[in-house]
Amino acid sequence: MSLIDVRNLTLQFDTDEGRITAVDNVSFSLAPGEVMGLVGESGSGKSVTAKALMKLNARNGHYSDDSQITLHLDSGPVDVMSLKRPRDMAVIRGGAISMIFQEPMASFAPAMTVGSQMVEQLLIHSNMNKRQAKELSIEMLDRVGISDASTRFNQYAFEMSGGMRQRAMIAMALSTKPKLLIADEPTTALDVTIQAQVIDLMKDLVDEFKMGIIFITHDLGVVAQTADKVAVMYLGRMIEQGPVREVIRNPRHPYTQGLIDALPKLDDLGAPLRAIPGDIPSPLERPSGCVFHTRCSQIIGDICKTHLPAWADTGADHRTACHLCHQGASA
Ligand code: SF4
Ligand code: MG
Repeated sequence: MSLIDVRNLTLQFDTDEGRITAVDNVSFSLAPGEVMGLVGESGSGKSVTAKALMKLNARNGHYSDDSQITLHLDSGPVDVMSLKRPRDMAVIRGGAISMIFQEPMASFAPAMTVGSQMVEQLLIHSNMNKRQAKELSIEMLDRVGISDASTRFNQYAFEMSGGMRQRAMIAMALSTKPKLLIADEPTTALDVTIQAQVIDLMKDLVDEFKMGIIFITHDLGVVAQTADKVAVMYLGRMIEQGPVREVIRNPRHPYTQGLIDALPKLDDLGAPLRAIPGDIPSPLERPSGCVFHTRCSQIIGDICKTHLPAWADTGADHRTACHLCHQGASA
């Protein structure tokens, strides 16, 4: 039984220069208690995909008619695409789905204390009274390792250090016990020790609450530590998906191979890191055929420039969208 099923999710934006495709035919499923890493360089479409799941998009966004997002809640399936009114979406956001961001200041209103915002959110998304909401908020601040939580409860976000703010944001996001937590580069701004603590904390909470997590990062190393499965994105498309160990040991897409080659190797720390040459093209100049062909070192020929590669099964639950993986097959 899955928690969320996403099919053919496609989102375009109108810009002054023309219409761009920010999310292109993305499909995946996530089960309760499962962590999926969503990886790719900056500009690969990870954040916009995450926001699209919550329909947190600027007014100029257009979803394709066949985009489907189904959330399986205890009360039954919710067809997210059919929720048109802002107040229907508001029930989902911060309730069944919570999101945490790289920059926690973005999550806190500057003129409210952290505690009053936590309480407000709980009053909207639960049946608690104010006193119960306050107790739970302080308990959650304590759970994320904030000492003297009842004092911190009355502080403003700007009075906290960056690491503490990050934890407070996580406490707020988890206090409503969301079914799905979307974490967008939640540890990138933190030092390594606090980063490890935050990752451990998220893993504990997955076990305890059986929630699903979509963990967005440009860092495959963090994914290897955190996730059960991984989806790699490039220019708004998913290009490889599978169990995290399988994909890291046996990456099949040249882009994934490039990301892995760019990781520091523990057994060879002196070796130079090999970045993938070139930059992600502008979405206004989207390559035809395989979107990665302008940077691919293993390009086969014209087929890569003219034909979008279909998904190939490349292992147990492992799929790759690259023409190389179809070579030798009858097609
Ligand atoms: Fe490279 Fe062709 Fe595979 Fe695209 S389809 S990643 S260009 S080999
Ligand atoms: Mg981003």
